[in-house]
Amino acid sequence: MVAKIDNKMAKQQDRIPRHEYRHCRLCHKRGNDSELIQPCDCMTGSNYVHAQCLVEHMLSTDRIHCEQCKSQYRGIKYRYTRKSLIEWLWKEPTARNSLLSCISLLCSSQVCLYSLWQTLFTDELDEFLDDITDIDLSLCIDAIKHNMSIVMLIQVKIVLPIVSIVCSIKQPMTVWNEYRKYSQNHYNIYIEDEAITAIT
Ligand SMILES: [Zn+2]
Ligand SMILES: [Zn+2]
Repeated sequence: MVAKIDNKMAKQQDRIPRHEYRHCRLCHKRGNDSELIQPCDCMTGSNYVHAQCLVEHMLSTDRIHCEQCKSQYRGIKYRYTRKSLIEWLWKEPTARNSLLSCISLLCSSQVCLYSLWQTLFTDELDEFLDDITDIDLSLCIDAIKHNMSIVMLIQVKIVLPIVSIVCSIKQPMTVWNEYRKYSQNHYNIYIEDEAITAIT
């Protein structure tokens, strides 16, 4: 009896086409071969999607590459262009913050550069050298205070301007690298598949 039931179930399963078991990995609904496409090279789990689901996913994320296998989506017609710097700034709040800090550093570095130039390349240099070489080696409180003021003077006149200038050089490079990373993963996507465009 058990064998008979098993045979019956096996026959029923044989009658169900294999593609009936496929699911769209985006909306998780079942679909048949005519509805589902394989958009990338993913080998694990379901690699089938509805073309319409793929379009919605691409347009909402601005991505043309699978986040898991990194291959470019296929199966539908589309063209794409890279996001410009302006589009990056417009869409990403973190990009605007990076640019603002970049501008802020550039402004402060101009002041620092002027201060450093004044210290090193004008008559102030002799006065500055006199001040910082006037170290008091006695161990009294006044001597410690005096020496601390020399350390502060070196920090304000030399260390701080140099650090600020270096940061202001590095920050634009950081912002540019952030944009490049973004532009490699985000695109303006134009769907050219007429069947899908008609649905949307
Ligand atoms: Zn779907
Ligand atoms: Zn993939």
